[in-house]
Amino acid sequence: PPRDADAVLEGLDPEQREVALALHGPVCVLAGAGTGKTRAITHRIAYGVRAGILQPASVLAVTFTNRAAGEMRGRLRQLGAGGVQARTFHSAALRQLQYFWPRAIGGEVPRLVERKVQLVAEAAARCRVRLDRNELRDVTGEIEWSKVTQTVPEEYPVAAARAGRQPPRDAAEIARIYAGYEELKRDRGVIDFEDVLLLAVGVLQDRADIADQVRAQYQHFVVDEYQDVSPLQQRLLDLWLGDRDSLCVVGDASQTIYSFTGATPDHLLDFRARHPGATVIRLIRDYRSTPQVVHLANGLLAQARGRAAEHRLELVSQRPAGPEPVYAEYADEPAEAEGTARRIRELLDSGVRAAEIAVLYRVNAQSELYEQALADAGVPYQLRGAERFFERPEVREAGLLLRGAALANRVGTQPAGGATAADDGDLPSQVRAVLSSRGWTPEPPAGSGAVRDRWESLAALVRLAEDFARARPDAGLADLVAELDERAAAQHAPTVEGVTLASLHAAKGLEWDAVFLVGLTEGMMPITYARTDEQIEEERRLLYVGVTRARRHLGLSWALARSPGGRTGRRPSRFLNGLRPGSSAPGGGRPAVTGAGHGAGVERGTAPRRGRRAPVRCRVCGRTLTDAGEIKLMRCEDCPSELDEALYERLREWRADRAREL
Ligand code: ATP
Ligand code: MG
Repeated sequence: PPRDADAVLEGLDPEQREVALALHGPVCVLAGAGTGKTRAITHRIAYGVRAGILQPASVLAVTFTNRAAGEMRGRLRQLGAGGVQARTFHSAALRQLQYFWPRAIGGEVPRLVERKVQLVAEAAARCRVRLDRNELRDVTGEIEWSKVTQTVPEEYPVAAARAGRQPPRDAAEIARIYAGYEELKRDRGVIDFEDVLLLAVGVLQDRADIADQVRAQYQHFVVDEYQDVSPLQQRLLDLWLGDRDSLCVVGDASQTIYSFTGATPDHLLDFRARHPGATVIRLIRDYRSTPQVVHLANGLLAQARGRAAEHRLELVSQRPAGPEPVYAEYADEPAEAEGTARRIRELLDSGVRAAEIAVLYRVNAQSELYEQALADAGVPYQLRGAERFFERPEVREAGLLLRGAALANRVGTQPAGGATAADDGDLPSQVRAVLSSRGWTPEPPAGSGAVRDRWESLAALVRLAEDFARARPDAGLADLVAELDERAAAQHAPTVEGVTLASLHAAKGLEWDAVFLVGLTEGMMPITYARTDEQIEEERRLLYVGVTRARRHLGLSWALARSPGGRTGRRPSRFLNGLRPGSSAPGGGRPAVTGAGHGAGVERGTAPRRGRRAPVRCRVCGRTLTDAGEIKLMRCEDCPSELDEALYERLREWRADRAREL
């Protein structure tokens, strides 16, 4: 480690140095992605500590994820400033609660409820509502959403309707369960994840002695990713600070992607108004990405609207030139996944490490195709923030059922002496029949959430059977089971170092040499459910976050149809208009590189279906439509157009992140 404090400043540019040296009074750093905000605040703390200005134990650095906090602690140690607290709001709040609970409330330190869903089930039973496993998860999700948005039970029906949620049950029923759940928690002396921040705020507000003690401990605060701070987190921060202003915040309004949790860039943008004496520093040098990637990021932001966009700063790359971003159009989604896997293989062969590559998508449901394609290509990978396809409980259960059915087939056909006679219909029909015996329907359930997720997983399994049957027309159920085993084994292979598969939300703050942004079609990016201008702008920011994760290689792709032979006519994301080559005139031009023609049908050895009219599929769930009215709508009657899966998805990711932290 460097020997004196000044050595810590060496790795910083002049503006970053200003950040590091501004150790007194409020400081706000407004800067774009990759400009070294996280680096600047880390060095700032290290400089302060080594110069003797900051006591390590008196500094509280707040980051957005546990992973980021861990990275910061490691970096601080390297810079000779170990002992500084780097935490998320939640883990900092939890620690304080645990410390002060006996004095503030008395009695036992509250435990975090371990089996929350169980408790919700009990609350439901008391309300005489019977919920199946999936409904239970969804109701739990609704309760969590309510708490994150500070909605009390009585307000739930109105708030849920206003937010366009699709509760799995009658809203009044959920409100009663929610109230019952809160009561049960109180009775048992347990708290849940969402209670942590609420309680910490409560204690600091009500107990001046405790607030004083916390303030005596922490003198100096640093907050990363400040654009995504929620009003509740801001309140906690204010309580920590008291009447002091020794606070440094850094953020990028153009990366606000958690508005659904109540996050707003207003706290960042209004910082100077709240802290009149604040030092405001802007960084524009981008150290992460090549000029090619930065050019695209700037182009994306140039089209942005709204308050965050008014404060955008044009980034200037500090890196040597690299390859142009590669735009690729594919015939269908499997082809897109295979094409992406092929490009990843090429990168690996050219010496890029797997850990330096990421595939980023809009919703976790998109992972399956990529898991499969990478497994097929023998590429190790790891998922962030979601379960692998073959590890999902419904998929495992379905696998067991199919195995049982295959066995019954074999035993059943032997006496008759005839090969694949006890079977009913072709392979996909058999699979559908087996799944139907457990309540699966070819029609998707209404609404979003766990019930829908489970349906989607099983629908993916049916599609897999369809593809398999097309590739191997003679195959039976036993062959399919063997195929599933093989695929599962390939996907289960433990990875030491693999390509990262993650949603765009989970990629925040991270970087890779090569990033593939996939599924960039209208409907996915922006996602169908983003309707208002603000929602569309948040989708654009999400894409900006994705683009700016890449150091050097950037792939952007989309598919014209969902499955081989499926209805084509999907369009590339509107956000790429004017950016991808030849796209300035709507509908015109060709992308620089196109993967079209490498269709999965060809690559997988399945014969393209000819002479059949491509079926019209529901644009929400993908089901083949037969009803004339539905075909006109291009979605199932029961697929709600207002479905807010995007919100749910993000909420779930946010929760998963928080859950991991604890
Ligand atoms: P994001 O908005 O995505 O969180 P950021 O502004 O926090 O980005 P960092 O992650 O701190 O940016 O930095 C981006 C990359 O640039 C990192 O690899 C970092 O080490 C590097 N970097 C930052 N500043 C410098 C510098 N002055 N010299 C060399 N490399 C730098
Ligand atoms: Mg950062």
